[in-house]
This record gives sequence, structure tokens and C-alpha cells, in this order.
Amino acid sequence: MSTDELPDYDAVIVGAGVCGIFQAYWLQKLGFRWSAFERGSDVGGTWYWNRYPGCRFDSESETYGYLFSRELFQEWTWRERFAPREETERYLHYFVEKFDLRKHMQFNCKVTSARWEERRRCWIITLSDGRSVSSRFLLTALGLLSDPTLPRYPGIERFKGTSFHTYYAPKEPIDYRGKRVAVVGTGSTGVQVICEIAEQVGSLTVFQRRPNWCAPLNNAVFSAEETAELKDRYDEICELCGSTPSGYVHNAVAKRTFDVSKEERVEFWERLYADRGFGKWLGNYKDVLTDPEPNAEYSKFIAGKIRQRIKNPAVAEMMIPKDHGFGTRRVPMERGYYEAFNQDNVELVSLEDTPIKEIDETGILTTARKYEFDIIVYATGFDAIIGSYEKLNVVGRDGLRLMEKWKAGPRTAFGIAVPGFPNLFTLAGPQSGSVATNFPRGIEDAVNWTSNLLAFLREHKCTRIEAAQAAEVQWLAEVQKWSKRILFGQQNSWFTGYNTNVDRRRADAALIYAGGQIRYRKVLAQQAEQGYPAFDVQ
Ligand SMILES: Cc1cc2nc3c(=O)[nH]c(=O)nc-3n(C[C@H](O)[C@H](O)[C@H](O)COP(=O)(O)OP(=O)(O)OC[C@H]3O[C@@H](n4cnc5c(N)ncnc54)[C@H](O)[C@@H]3O)c2cc1C
Repeated sequence: MSTDELPDYDAVIVGAGVCGIFQAYWLQKLGFRWSAFERGSDVGGTWYWNRYPGCRFDSESETYGYLFSRELFQEWTWRERFAPREETERYLHYFVEKFDLRKHMQFNCKVTSARWEERRRCWIITLSDGRSVSSRFLLTALGLLSDPTLPRYPGIERFKGTSFHTYYAPKEPIDYRGKRVAVVGTGSTGVQVICEIAEQVGSLTVFQRRPNWCAPLNNAVFSAEETAELKDRYDEICELCGSTPSGYVHNAVAKRTFDVSKEERVEFWERLYADRGFGKWLGNYKDVLTDPEPNAEYSKFIAGKIRQRIKNPAVAEMMIPKDHGFGTRRVPMERGYYEAFNQDNVELVSLEDTPIKEIDETGILTTARKYEFDIIVYATGFDAIIGSYEKLNVVGRDGLRLMEKWKAGPRTAFGIAVPGFPNLFTLAGPQSGSVATNFPRGIEDAVNWTSNLLAFLREHKCTRIEAAQAAEVQWLAEVQKWSKRILFGQQNSWFTGYNTNVDRRRADAALIYAGGQIRYRKVLAQQAEQGYPAFDVQ
């Protein structure tokens, strides 16, 4: 069955980050009538917004770019092994220009609500400028780390100096030289900021809410030979990333921690520590992230490194996590992080010992004393995974609100569709395979699959698709099963919905699928091969 009244668009994408622009590429290729709405003034998403000093990804650059196009891979030359924000932003611009996608994108355009209209089988999408448009399909590429949260300290708005959340770091570069700077938060972002500015500032006071296990990134600029070699290895890189559960080049080794002698273990861990990237997290013995005892042994090794690198033993102890093991939360990658605390101009304040009482016009007051600052940087993270969905105000069939449905946590079919919300695809959304992987790898899988489904629907002249309730129940069980099998799933962190900046605590909310991308891809492929049995298609 089809409707006679055509909506304004065949498909609307919300968000123009890595995910949204890849979906745009597909819609263009399929010849759909489409538009993308982005609240920022240009493309890039994460790499448009986070203009804080030191922002970069920890994925190997060549594995972070899109891998679907050999030509694109050959054309683009990554300068650094782990590209800084600016380089990634340039790459995404290049992609958009190469495939001529910009003409259908609308910037400074926030989607404020989306309502399903059953009669016309389309979504009515309302924009911040007052317009509303209709679209057969709604493709949300909102990002899982796109709803920044500030801490709830009294008086935060009173500070008269410069202050910002890292997501909203000003476009105009800030001169940190000689300034009295505070950084609140020591997650991945805070650690990057600290490494970058510690040597420039007059003084740096780091307010640590909870210590994290950090490890060296060991970045470098590619030599000409390395670049040439990389380009020759395109097939191998695609295959390698496709063959690891995480979509990274790193994969756990087949041995167990206590199967080998202490000497062999320590030698292996020394090599990992000296090597580049996430190997020290994802390329370890296979039980380090699943079994508490091996995890504790490895954590001891990393604690030893921290003690070696920090001169003041009291500071070292403050920075060694005692409440979780290595790799059970997102591992911040660093360059000289621990050494920064050996500098005279850098001070660590543990908020576990002396909490912040309030912020006033000139600085921060803890239970111990007052600190005065020129600049306060809030590296206080995100209402991860769900936050941007909450802000979108999605209303589905029979007036069902998405956030009402997700009261106890997301409920989806494969992290891509939601029963009760026809023609909505939550690309790389909650419970999808992307967040527990090298994101772009998971994103490519989700967008490829959705795009093929859209082509299938068009081919079969179908205008409505809705996931079955049974698929949601099964997927929830699957998500919960994998979450219980890894230590990661049992720790308070943004992966499990824990965030002290927001009211609700979503631990146990089954936010991410941790079964790995190989399994995830298989589940999706099975659906396609069998004609999408988990969906009602009309
Ligand atoms: C500092 C940082 C470092 C990271 N490092 C890594 C890494 O090493 N490896 C890795 O794999 N991933 C990393 N990530 C995760 C990163 O978010 C993903 O890699 C990827 O950029 C996600 O792309 P996306 O398009 O899904 O989302 P985003 O890049 O977040 O893009 C979403 C877009 O949607 C827009 N949007 C949201 N709501 C609306 C609305 N209502 N209306 C209009 N527009 C809207 C936003 O403005 C944004 O531009 C990192 C994230 C951060 C913040």
C-alpha cells in the first residue's frame, strides 16, 4: 500500500557528523530526495564542536576514516597516526565536497521535534527556525556524545572570567599563556586538555572528580614511506578492522593472563605500554577485560607505571583508581599526562577529599580553600547515548513519546529501529554496535544496512516499516547478556549511563551492545538475507 500525497522528502537526516554525512552519501547515490539538518554551522559533528586544546581521536587515523571507498582511501593522506580534531574536520569536509553533499544540507538548523503522521505515512519534522517539513523516513544521526553536561555547582553562572564546557570551546583560539587555569574533570577530554596546556599556562589546577586509568597514546607524524606503505595496505586494513570485535586493529591475544609466566607477562605488557594506541586496552590477554583477577594483575602493572612517572608519591596515589580496574571504563590516552603533575605550576585537587562548594565571580571554593582563576574549563562529559534523543522530542504511533517508551532505558530492534516508531532509523544509536567499537566501523555497518533496506522498500513499493515488539524483547536480552559478560558493563561510567551531572542514573539500562561488531554485522545481515523478518513491511 502507498500514499498518494508525497511528503517533502523521501528521507531526512538529523545530524551531519561522521554518521550523518555517510548516510547522506548513500541517499545521494540511491537518488532519494533528501535533506540533512544540522544545528552546527558546518559538517563534522564531534570534530566540529570539540575545539578544546588537544582534541584528537585515539583510533588509528587510517581506521577512523571511511573504508568503503578505495579511491577515497588513496586520495586522502593522514598526517598524524592519531589525527587531531582539525585534521579530521578537514577530512570530513573533503568527503562532503568530493561527493557533492553540501547542497542538500541545512546548517544552524536544529530539529526540535518529530511526529509520526500515520495517515500520510510520514514524519513531520519541526525546525528551530519555525519551519516544519515532512519526510517518509527519519534517519537520526544525533551522536552518542553530543549532549554536553555541566556540573551542578552553585554559582557556576557567576564566574566573570572565561569558562566553557569542552564541547563548546570557543572557535577563536584562547591564549592560555601565563593564565591561571582550572580544569574540572579528568576523563578522556580533561586529560587531553591538561597534556596540551600544562606547559603554556601560568598555573593549572586540576579538579579530579574520580581518577581514571590513563595510558600513553604514543602518537607520531607519518613519514612519507609509512604513508606509501599504508596506502598499499588498504585491503589488509579493511580486512583487519572487519575481523576484530572492536573494529580496531587491536585484538585480544588467545592466551590467558595466568597461562604464562610472570616474566613473559610483564615483558608483553611492557611492549604494549611502549606501543601505539589502544593495544594496551584491547590487545591484551583475552581474560583481562572479562575476569576480575587478571584485570587486577594488569591494573597493578599500570599502577606501577603511574608511580614511576609521578615524583610525589602522595599525588601518584591520588591518581591511581581504587574503585575500578584498568579498561573497565573508557581509557583516556595521553602524552605526558602524569609528568605534568611533576611541574611546579600544576596542582591536583581531589574532589573526593575536598568537594567544590561553589563557584563565584573569581574562582572555585572547595571545602578546603578558595582558588582564583582566569579560565575554567569544564571537561565534564556528556549525557551520553540518550541525551540528544531526549532533546529531539520524538512522538511515534498513537502519540507514543520516545522518552516515555525509554523510561527504563532504550528499547530497540538491533539499536536501529524502535517498535511504535515506524520509518525511524536510529543510526548507530543506543544499543547499536557502534559505541563499543571504533565508531566509524560500526557507523558504516549501520548505514550500509539501513541504506540497503531503504532501497529494498523502494523496490517493493513499500512506504511503511515498523520493527516488531518481539524483536525488541530479543534484542534487549541480547544486549543484557553481553553486558554481563564484560567487566565494562558492570562499572559506573557513561557506557552504563552513570553521570553525576544529570538526575537520572541509567546504570543497568542496557545502553550499548557489547557483543562486538562481527556478531552485530551477522545479526543485521541475517535480517537482510531473510527479507527482514523482524519487521512489519507494508
Ligand atoms: C573528544 C572525543 C573523542 C573521541 N574519540 C574517538 C575515538 O578515538 N574513536 C572513536 O571511534 N570515536 C571517538 N569519539 C566518538 C565520536 O563521537 C565518534 O567517533 C563519531 O564522531 C560520531 O559521529 P556521529 O555522526 O555519530 O555523531 P556526532 O559526531 O556527535 O554528530 C552528531 C551531530 O548531530 C547534531 N545534532 C544532534 N542533535 C541535533 C538536532 N536535534 N538537530 C540538528 N542537529 C543535531 C550535532 O550537532 C552533531 O553535529 C570521540 C568523541 C569525542 C567527543
